[in-house]
Amino acid sequence: MEHLLLRTAIAVSLIAVAALLIGLIFGAVPGWASFSGGVVLLLLHHVRHVDLLVDWLKRPAPGQVPHGRGIWDYVFALLHRFERAQTRQYQQVLKTLARFRQAGRAHPDGVVILDADNRIEWCNDTAESHLDLNIETDAGQPVTNLVRRPEFVAYVDSGDFARPVELRAPRRAGVILSVQIIPYGDAQKLLLSRDVTRLEKLESTRRDFVANVSHELRTPLTVLSGFLETISELQLGPERSRDYLNLMAEQSKRMQRIVDDLLTLSTLESAPGPSLDERVRIAPLLDRLKADADVLSGGRHRIVLDAGPGFDLLGSENEIASAFGNLVSNAIRYTPADGEVRLIWRATPADAEFAVEDSGIGIAAEHIPRLTERFYRVDRGRSRETGGTGLGLAIVKHILSRHQATLEIASEPGKGSRFAARFSGRRVVPVATIPEGAASKS
Ligand code: ADP
Repeated sequence: MEHLLLRTAIAVSLIAVAALLIGLIFGAVPGWASFSGGVVLLLLHHVRHVDLLVDWLKRPAPGQVPHGRGIWDYVFALLHRFERAQTRQYQQVLKTLARFRQAGRAHPDGVVILDADNRIEWCNDTAESHLDLNIETDAGQPVTNLVRRPEFVAYVDSGDFARPVELRAPRRAGVILSVQIIPYGDAQKLLLSRDVTRLEKLESTRRDFVANVSHELRTPLTVLSGFLETISELQLGPERSRDYLNLMAEQSKRMQRIVDDLLTLSTLESAPGPSLDERVRIAPLLDRLKADADVLSGGRHRIVLDAGPGFDLLGSENEIASAFGNLVSNAIRYTPADGEVRLIWRATPADAEFAVEDSGIGIAAEHIPRLTERFYRVDRGRSRETGGTGLGLAIVKHILSRHQATLEIASEPGKGSRFAARFSGRRVVPVATIPEGAASKS
């Protein structure tokens, strides 16, 4: 400013000196005329530059600050410098914003930014797929016009966002979302959506499991306490007492079996996976399985062992024996007398299969996918009569998956069933590759 004053004062002084000289040479009138003309020209010079400045300020195009002369050259240079610094800052802010958006986009949860009126300002790809939004067409729309689930609309309208709300995802059958709004800034809101389908499923499995265990244990317990009451209240002869005691022993064995199976399952869930170092010698294992089957059958079935030679498995001998044993005992328990049970072992370097085929009662197709669920039985009564806990196939499935193996079930009601455990080549070894006794535990 001082600069401008000084330079204007100098310019006016120069005009005055020139006008004075003209006045001395040509007389007072030309002198005054030149002074006024000079001042007017100076004024026009400044007005023209102010004009240029106002024009640019109205539409401050970056990099197009006008050029000026004299003092205005200096003013515009300052303005130019200021404008360049502003542009740089603006670019920096844009970059930061873009980075934030990228981070928001990469977020595994859905993120929606809402304004004070719950209109969508921005959302990431996950939110688009969770809530069936399209940012291109939905920006600026109230979110409750687009996500119309009543529980969500009520949540948004309530203004109480302390807890998330759960809702079924629009247009994605079976998907459950947990949605929470987090107010921030002036009146803006961040809406976060998370797919909790798996968690929900786990939670309901846990609830069912606890209910099932309680139910399974309550039945024998009720019977036991009933017998106890009877024995203590009635004067029973020694023979009746023995009968009652036998029945009580049976119920407590049943409880014992359930608890044992539950413990086996929980150990399988928490123990580290079986290593590839332990060899399961198949031939003696099959012989043992056949012998156990004969005992369990008590001569009521024809039991056939059909084993291809040459290969063993790598894994946990105890677990494999338990899984195969479960399949064999099921085949016997669900095959009427005079039926046939076949134990089949086939292996190549590429894969191996242990199958149990029976000519038993068979299973209707709709039950097959659920057989490995805990406590799932086709016929509760029959399972119980034969000492079943409903946990056998769940244990089999666990053991096989710990060995990266699968369980294949084929069955036809009234004709029989085939349960096959399939192992990949990784778990198959030729019988002779490891010297006898080096890695074998059997
Ligand atoms: P359970 O202790 O009841 O036998 P499992 O988990 O071993 O429990 O088997 C689950 C259900 O699958 C059984 O209750 C039975 O209904 C059916 N099942 C299993 N194996 C056979 C089979 N070989 N033949 C017919 N049904 C079978």
